[in-house]
Amino acid sequence: MAHTHPEIRTRFAPSPTGFVHIGSLRTALFAFLFARKNSGKLILRIEDTDQNRFVEGAVENLLKVMQHLGINFDEGFYLDDQGKVQEKGEKGPYLQSQRLELYKKYALELVEKGSAYYCFCDEQRLEEVRKEQIALKKPPMYDRLCRKLTPEEVREKLNEAKAQGKNPVIRQAIPEGGSTLVPDLVYGEMTYEHRILDDQVILKSDGFPTYHLAVVVDDHFMEISHVIRGEEWIPSTPKHILLYQALGWAPPEFAHVPLILNPDKSKLSKRQGDVAVEDFLSKGYLKEALINFVAFLGWNPKTDQEIFSLQELIEQFDLKKINKSAAIFDLAKLDWLNSLYIRNKPLRETVALALPFWELLGINTESYPKEYLSEILTLEKDRLKKLSEIGERTKYFFAQPEYEKELLIWKKADANDASHKLQKLYEFFTNLPEGRFQKTSLEEELKKFIGQNGFDNGSVLWPLRTCLTGMAASPGPFEVAATLFIGLGKTEILKRIKIGIDKLA
Ligand code: GLU
Repeated sequence: MAHTHPEIRTRFAPSPTGFVHIGSLRTALFAFLFARKNSGKLILRIEDTDQNRFVEGAVENLLKVMQHLGINFDEGFYLDDQGKVQEKGEKGPYLQSQRLELYKKYALELVEKGSAYYCFCDEQRLEEVRKEQIALKKPPMYDRLCRKLTPEEVREKLNEAKAQGKNPVIRQAIPEGGSTLVPDLVYGEMTYEHRILDDQVILKSDGFPTYHLAVVVDDHFMEISHVIRGEEWIPSTPKHILLYQALGWAPPEFAHVPLILNPDKSKLSKRQGDVAVEDFLSKGYLKEALINFVAFLGWNPKTDQEIFSLQELIEQFDLKKINKSAAIFDLAKLDWLNSLYIRNKPLRETVALALPFWELLGINTESYPKEYLSEILTLEKDRLKKLSEIGERTKYFFAQPEYEKELLIWKKADANDASHKLQKLYEFFTNLPEGRFQKTSLEEELKKFIGQNGFDNGSVLWPLRTCLTGMAASPGPFEVAATLFIGLGKTEILKRIKIGIDKLA
């Protein structure tokens, strides 16, 4: 029976693998929303029992990403003002490798109680058993040979092992018959027959626990009331419940969240494209868009609302609205959300976020007036899916464009005509007073100039736009010229028209 908890305490328990997987962010977000909604606590525990997978700096990186996204922890770890990882909370240590004594104590207690046993089988024997079972088309499980040892035999083998400087592992003893009920807040009640559960190792020979033992001991001592984690852990849960029972502890409530799949229904993994949250951020996805998107991976408000701030998510989050079926990772939806957030963000903030993407192209943004950068962004922001696109799309505002002279020729005209129009434009801009370079007046003046000369719009505006941008597709010539005027002045416009004329000569 799960107990009634005086306080909601949930946790996010990643392994320090070096980057934040999008699925991991989803789990963290749901735990965060659940804790905040219920005025509970969110604990960050680092599950580093697999020392082979430990990556230096992983915790720091994780905290940076989480902090940036607005997900903070009440206990566990945080970054101080210097950006150094610090620990806080009364139920620590929160790093599993610092809790080895505790795991050992309970592994031995389980042995004492007959719910676990020493296993002396070596790799070679285990491999043979595995092969045999596979040949018989049975699921490979430990054949429980060491479970049959008498207490005397165990004592003898322990002494023998000790003499050789070896440590036996400890395995969980799954009860022979019967079944275990797994109650789940998302999936309902599931029953697991004991005969399909493996006697898994809970304490390894290096003294480290495996996930199963560590997770139970930690969730118990950290007084976790609700475990929120990925669906892939459901089959492990009956083993955990059996451990709780054996130790006489009340298990927490479980809420498993559905798998995340690619649109082709394959599992979203590291190999399948890009799943690192850091990469999404560095590609120019806004944190608001990413949070909004990730919230919908397996959760649904059951209304038409699609746009949620983190605060709104906290208010509306409900474990009951988590879906059982797999969530589809739809990049097109993320792009759509991101463009929406870019469009609606206050311009000043968007400029600040865009600066690094310009800098990446070697543009020294500090040497330009802020107003210029704002105007450039205004021209493009409604077309951006990601902020990273800003660089390539606007680089002509920072350097004279390079292009082939053919691009200057409008489809209904020829080189002579283009050259003639550009010469006329050169005169027009030379004589245009500085006060008329603002977008609306410039448009008025240019149209007047076209009308008075009896020109076609296209035959003038096409080569003009090409001179200014060097691109086949870009914002229109009026706004580009007006913007260039703000940042680089009239001389730059004239210079670019002159380059066009020279190309055609
Ligand atoms: N360390 C596990 C992981 O990396 C945590 C599973 C759990 O939350 O129990 O996903």
